[in-house]
Amino acid sequence: MSKILLIVAEAKAGKLRQVTFETIGAARTIADEGDRLQAVVIGSGISGLTNELAAYGLDHIYVIDDASLEHYNPEAYYAAISEVLRTARPNAVLLGHTAMGKDLAPQIATALGAGQVSDVIAVSKEASGVSFTRPIYAGKAFEKRAFAGSSPWVVTFRPNNIAAPAADGAGTTATTALEAPAPSLRSVIKEVVKKTSGKIDLTEAKVVVSGGRGVKSADGFAPLEELANVLGGAVGASRGACDAGYCDYGLQIGQTGKVVTPEIYIACGISGAIQHLAGMSGSRVIIAINKDPEAPIFKVADYGIVGDLFEVVPLLTQEFKQL
Ligand code: FAD
Repeated sequence: MSKILLIVAEAKAGKLRQVTFETIGAARTIADEGDRLQAVVIGSGISGLTNELAAYGLDHIYVIDDASLEHYNPEAYYAAISEVLRTARPNAVLLGHTAMGKDLAPQIATALGAGQVSDVIAVSKEASGVSFTRPIYAGKAFEKRAFAGSSPWVVTFRPNNIAAPAADGAGTTATTALEAPAPSLRSVIKEVVKKTSGKIDLTEAKVVVSGGRGVKSADGFAPLEELANVLGGAVGASRGACDAGYCDYGLQIGQTGKVVTPEIYIACGISGAIQHLAGMSGSRVIIAINKDPEAPIFKVADYGIVGDLFEVVPLLTQEFKQL
């Protein structure tokens, strides 16, 4: 029997987030012959995004475009998605492991009586079925999970891990616009104050330049920002740097911060505490700059530079500028 796999697309600042395309990639791996890939996109002024989604050869796109949905609100978004769940009756709901996905997924799983696997970094399909790989014990080990029984699946995918397919330009997807329900909200968003000025989302950045207590001051982040700009990356931080007041907690990477898996992670003046490693050890290439040759960060680094970050970082920036 063919299944319906529903992808919850996520838009930010009027654009689809990269993790949406990665989730489509995962859906294609999961899908059997005859399965139908559908998507839902929710927000304000997002109707135009259906064209971009359609280029990925989906069978159906649901769109709920309403001014009241400009900012993510768990109750409003869940009410909107419930409409789609009732209409589409999906066998699987697939989301990004983002702030929104992490919040919505358990509500959806509860509503569908579904099992949930979270923070998936790889999907594989064998004769025995589909299995999902996810990190456990703060990234020290990995487990493979499979769904048992016939209840629906809810899965969240960690950004930057699953390959996004190329848009094949099919573009003829049926679209259904649904009215935004008007639930009686228990809380409303009055104002959103952006604390980080980064142009690139830290969790989706391909390059992250991170600073620790070794950066020594808020001004000490300036050379890191310059290097990140040259590499088209984002700036992150250790909790040590955040606690010291050198930067905003929005930049914190680690067990109690954000989890990043960029192609290149450059750790500057970060010792490499286990709680920090939990947020970045999945990075493809790790470069550590630390003046202490015994710093534990060198144990996980692919390339280590023993030296003063205030000398090394500007040199790297200078070199990369010339490329
Ligand atoms: P330090 O450990 O002080 O290291 C600074 C490094 O900079 C040193 O290695 C030093 O050699 C180097 N250095 C100094 N000057 C220079 C220079 N000029 N050039 C080059 N190198 C230099 N931490 C996180 O990062 N993320 C988390 O999410 C997190 N969650 C936590 C949760 C719990 C429950 C607990 C208990 C702790 C958590 N921590 C977390 C804190 C963690 O244990 C460490 O204290 C923290 O990561 C240390 O930050 P740091 O590496 O910047 O500082």
